[in-house]
Amino acid sequence: MHLIVYFSDYTGDETTIAKDLEHIKTMSQSNNKEEGITGVLFYQNGNFMQFLEGEEADIRKKFAKISQDSRHTNIRVLFDEPIEKRYLKDSRMDTFNLSKNETIDYAKLERIKSIYTHNLQIKSNTLIQAFKTFLEESTLFL
Ligand code: FAD
Repeated sequence: MHLIVYFSDYTGDETTIAKDLEHIKTMSQSNNKEEGITGVLFYQNGNFMQFLEGEEADIRKKFAKISQDSRHTNIRVLFDEPIEKRYLKDSRMDTFNLSKNETIDYAKLERIKSIYTHNLQIKSNTLIQAFKTFLEESTLFL
């Protein structure tokens, strides 16, 4: 199993994010199921943070595709390493807009945070720190 985590900058604005996120989520959930990819996508204040898990070849192919998407730019890879197992086996690509509070499933968000905090702490404190900072910067995640 392999994990890629990256940050990027959204090229749209607050008037377009809801539609774009919904579109990305729909595409991802159907594509990722076929390709055995799991993960989660966060959006907050103009930035994306995405976790992509799967077989290395599948993840690299997917990441190459995503990297060409004009809905974001300035992609910074934070983590690109083998992992022992798939951590988000139930998430084909859960999507959270942390900038607004209408549709947040807090229970699910807590569960994802907890899974990664527990399992990846040994592997990469940097990743966990960045993840926590990203979530804590959201005014919703108190
Ligand atoms: P494409 O030929 O790329 O496009 C299919 C449809 O999407 C078309 O109707 C087209 O109009 C529309 N589309 C494509 N690009 C854009 C664009 N820039 N603006 C508006 N509409 C567009 N895809 C996944 O499968 N899994 C993921 O986990 C995933 N995560 C993503 C994370 C982010 C932050 C972003 C920005 C995109 C993500 N995507 C993901 C979408 C991915 O980049 C591709 O658009 C998608 O995989 C469809 O690819 P395709 O080759 O099947 O179709």
